[in-house]
Amino acid sequence: MIGLEIHAQMKTNTKAFCRCSTDFHSSPNSNVCPVCLGYPGCLPVLNEKLIEFTIKMGIATNCTIRSNSIFARKNYFYPDLTKGYQITQFDTPLCYEGHINIKLKNKETKKIGITRIHIEEDAGKSIHDFHDDETLIDFNRCGVPLIEIVSEPDMNSTDEAHQYLSKIKQTLIYLEINDGNMEEGSLRCDANISLRLKGTETLGTRTEIKNLNSFKNVSDAIEAEIKRQTSVLESGEKVSYHTMTYNAKDKTTAATRTKEEAHDYRYFPEPDLVKLKISEDWLRKVADNLPEFPDKRRDRFMKDYFLPESDSEEITHDRKFADYFENVAVNLSDKNERSFRTASNIVRAEVRKVMNEKKIGINEFPLPAKAIAMIADSVNSGKVSITASKEIFTLMLSGKSEEEMLSIFRESEKNLSIVSDTSEIESIVKKIIDTNPEETQRYKSGEKKLAGFFVGKVMQESKGKANPKIVNELLIKLLEV
Ligand SMILES: [Zn+2]
Repeated sequence: MIGLEIHAQMKTNTKAFCRCSTDFHSSPNSNVCPVCLGYPGCLPVLNEKLIEFTIKMGIATNCTIRSNSIFARKNYFYPDLTKGYQITQFDTPLCYEGHINIKLKNKETKKIGITRIHIEEDAGKSIHDFHDDETLIDFNRCGVPLIEIVSEPDMNSTDEAHQYLSKIKQTLIYLEINDGNMEEGSLRCDANISLRLKGTETLGTRTEIKNLNSFKNVSDAIEAEIKRQTSVLESGEKVSYHTMTYNAKDKTTAATRTKEEAHDYRYFPEPDLVKLKISEDWLRKVADNLPEFPDKRRDRFMKDYFLPESDSEEITHDRKFADYFENVAVNLSDKNERSFRTASNIVRAEVRKVMNEKKIGINEFPLPAKAIAMIADSVNSGKVSITASKEIFTLMLSGKSEEEMLSIFRESEKNLSIVSDTSEIESIVKKIIDTNPEETQRYKSGEKKLAGFFVGKVMQESKGKANPKIVNELLIKLLEV
């Protein structure tokens, strides 16, 4: 059984309890003040946006939102925690008893319980690898707002854990409350794992792997820990509770400390903050301003734009990408299944390719949605072939302004338009038959699969511009005389 604890940094401009900036790229120790450094006599003030963001995540994960909660102090000493405690929530998490649905590889849906989502502040950062005999401390991260999303131990494989983490990340990004950046640590994950011997009811002791900072590490670490616990159990011994670290180099997990040594954090109610009361009114306001969630949007795209589930899933995975597609759809002159599918193909293949090559997001993609709609229209009305549409797409990318792009479109659409003039195509077909007497003979004596060879030659000769339907008709007519 696998349970995940995910720490997500909230995208507020300022810290949880003071007005310092949360900017990750600021120079060390520049975003600090007496409050987040824990000077005596300073009082924290709660960031309202942080509560709003947490409630958003709570609603998106079907949690109950607690109307009355308090903050707690979690006491421990660490050099990068000058206060000597972290402000967090202990027995009254703001959100609790929720769930999300994940899609499994076999296409089935599985419900994963969310135990709680609570608010806490981050600690500073100790940097040990700058000097051999010195540790540097950066307090910028002190007081940066986090939420911790704790799941039930409902996952039973690394694939399920991966799907769950991916869904949580997608939801956070959709809500625009976290940037999903695991490398910069704004999304981190701990995994709890316990095994049960086949045919027995009792669950083995769990262990906890700390600080996994990529999807690959989460999967690999869980896999490694399952292997380790299996070999412990199979040798007749017992698994004991440990906090584990994962070593990505040799793909192994190792114990850091036993439970006996684990901290007693001496939680008590934070005396410097007032009780947090969420009014019905405010809750409704937050709920009314939520975006359409990814699952719902995927289903709507399937219905409204006649897209297959996998295409719809692909487009709606990223909110901004889905917005772009909807913008293309609005600009299409024909709003029918064929037209939406053509647009979807261009967006998923050509647009995505450019984004991947240039490593840019859809917001930085240069062509306006209207341009993609024009290309799709051109294919659908039979003016240009799909091959030509790709060329037009590439040509348009060289335009510097929207105006220039549109003039490139008009020019290239004219140059690349499909030739449907039967007499013009007939002369090409005749030429190809005349210059390939051997194949012609073989075709006539029954080798019908050579039809493809002739179509290819004609298309090549016409530089891909001949209308394929007319080419086929003429070939049959002229070859079978
Ligand atoms: Zn501060």
